[in-house]
Amino acid sequence: MDKSLRTPVIAGNWKMNLTPAAAKALIEEVKPLVADAGCGVVFCVPYVDIAAAAEAAAGSNIKIGAQNVHWESKGAYTGEISAEMLQAVGAEYAVIGHSERRQFFGETDVTVNLRVKAALAAGLKVILCNGELLEQRQQGITMEVVRYQTKINLAGVSASALANVIIAYEPVWAIGTGLTATPEQANEVCKGIRQLLAELYDADTAAKAVIQYGGSMNAANAADLLAQYDIDGGLIGGASLKAKDFAAIVAAASA
Ligand code: PEP
Repeated sequence: MDKSLRTPVIAGNWKMNLTPAAAKALIEEVKPLVADAGCGVVFCVPYVDIAAAAEAAAGSNIKIGAQNVHWESKGAYTGEISAEMLQAVGAEYAVIGHSERRQFFGETDVTVNLRVKAALAAGLKVILCNGELLEQRQQGITMEVVRYQTKINLAGVSASALANVIIAYEPVWAIGTGLTATPEQANEVCKGIRQLLAELYDADTAAKAVIQYGGSMNAANAADLLAQYDIDGGLIGGASLKAKDFAAIVAAASA
């Protein structure tokens, strides 16, 4: 397998931060810093920021995404947003299955799968998150957990549709905690996910799949993580809110 088959993607997850005006200001600050990026650059922003962020990013290499998407296109689903609505205001990506959705909002592997299929059918690109809890790592079942999640989350997704899916391996214990998986730990799981994709699809599809690491990636540790063979970029929370830190991670992915 050849790492050069894959273009890394650095995606910021702003979580529940920034108003539309602050979103615009941050994108304007980041734009010149990442203009020569040799990787994909995405910001997944709060719903209300999408239009402002897309307007600020227009004409640049920065793409805008949402942090979730519902599986129905419309209807009586108070508080939810459809893929069509996201696209109408400029979103091209959606994060699905983030551990904070699973942990705090009852998201299950089955609803993650429904969201993934609906987003892909509508033409959104998906950043699909999975990862083990600390106790699962301590019990030595990390790969079983991640394989189980990935299999259910991708059920019914074809090999051609998988080209529009980025898988983000995010150990839950590393998200927002300042604890980072070592490059070797992160690569081992990303490699295991690629192996699973070869089993579920085929070797070529697996070799081309973009698999990110996420979990306290920052300007200081990004280069070592991104140098790993099976890590094709990162999903970045905290550090994506700081223009210079985010740009340094993009530079590390472009090297
Ligand atoms: C995330 O929100 O997906 C994430 C990885 O957050 P942080 O970088 O802050 O750990």
